[in-house]
Amino acid sequence: MVSKSLLSATFRDIGTNLNLSAAPNGKTLSDRTVKAIAMAKRLRWFAIPQKFKEQIVKANILPAGLYGVEASWANSSTLKSLKAAIANALGPRSARASSDMVFVNTSCSGDLDPEIYILSQRVQAIRRIIAKYPSKQSKVQSIVGKYLDGSCKQATISNPVGPVGLLMHSVEQMGAKITPDLRIVKDNEADIDILHMPWQHLKKATVELAANKRAVDVTDQRSHLKGLNEIDNQIVKKIINRLGDKEARVYNHISTGGAWSEAHLQDIGLSESGTCTHCGGEVHDISHVLWSCPVVNKHRKVEDLNHLDPQLLPTYIKHGVPAAMSSNIESTFWGQVEQVSNEQASADTLKAIGIPTTNRGKVVASCKNQEVKDVLATCNINPASNNARQAFQQIKANKQKPHLAMPYRCTRLPPADINVYTDGS
Ligand SMILES: [Zn+2]
Repeated sequence: MVSKSLLSATFRDIGTNLNLSAAPNGKTLSDRTVKAIAMAKRLRWFAIPQKFKEQIVKANILPAGLYGVEASWANSSTLKSLKAAIANALGPRSARASSDMVFVNTSCSGDLDPEIYILSQRVQAIRRIIAKYPSKQSKVQSIVGKYLDGSCKQATISNPVGPVGLLMHSVEQMGAKITPDLRIVKDNEADIDILHMPWQHLKKATVELAANKRAVDVTDQRSHLKGLNEIDNQIVKKIINRLGDKEARVYNHISTGGAWSEAHLQDIGLSESGTCTHCGGEVHDISHVLWSCPVVNKHRKVEDLNHLDPQLLPTYIKHGVPAAMSSNIESTFWGQVEQVSNEQASADTLKAIGIPTTNRGKVVASCKNQEVKDVLATCNINPASNNARQAFQQIKANKQKPHLAMPYRCTRLPPADINVYTDGS
């Protein structure tokens, strides 16, 4: 049963309804989401640049479709439809394209994935509640404790009833957990302290945590992303923001796996010979046109890439998807060591993929690598399972005496009167 007393016929005027039944139920939210799905479906056909579409999703569709999601159950099938409608509006028109990758390839700040939006709204709601009503902190913490020890039979994390339970449900879906002192913890990641993390970092940290989980999930589903553990989102944003509208569409097509090679077209009977239409050579996958086709290579502006041996690159790099940088300085940027032997590859190729080639370079890399390994060992961080971002975030979050030259945490109180302004005056 849903309390009807709070219902209103208008689209965006109340927060949410009380769910007084035992089953998860969010009828008002589902109705709003259905309207947002219709908006996203229309947006697909708007003849406007991609970045305007992204702004419409960010400023209109997500806030309208998920209004009140902080305290209301989001129906999973409606949510999936919303996700698919937004991905179709923003992504390439290809049946092969991965909708998860469409959300990685957006140029706007933040993430437009509805599931990530929900998590970030719920985290911020709890922070706001406690900031505004500090006396509620013990209540929130006791509710978290009850969910964790299972002492409340009517509500579980998979079947939550209120904002705190809904937050715990969202966090668990991202492969993380909430502790009774309201920290989001996940293996190999720095903790997110909901109560004390600076407000401007809280949303960013939550979105990153969820986006990294999505990247891990999508690599299991798509062959062109095989072996990828984390996507460097900052590099993707830089790439997209420097491309023109048409170039960004081509990049989107390739990196989402939406492009068809001649070999694929032959499989479905749309290409007779299955050979390259530019050079007439044999084609096994899309990497021929991207990296090996002599006719295409003649037109390449960055000619250094012509000398690069594509055999040494993982398929995700060949599709333009940057992996997070490895914490091993002696490996390639994306952490391969064994696959790349110095005898096979030219010095140019090795240099381009991050392997030192000169004797001096090798010695410097080896020494620095040992230095990094020592620091990681002091902080109990395993270099094999942590990339550079994870390792450095955990070192920065470490409250012990800093092991790298970093500013100490300031424990003194701020001055009573303002003594400096942010513009330096
Ligand atoms: Zn060719």
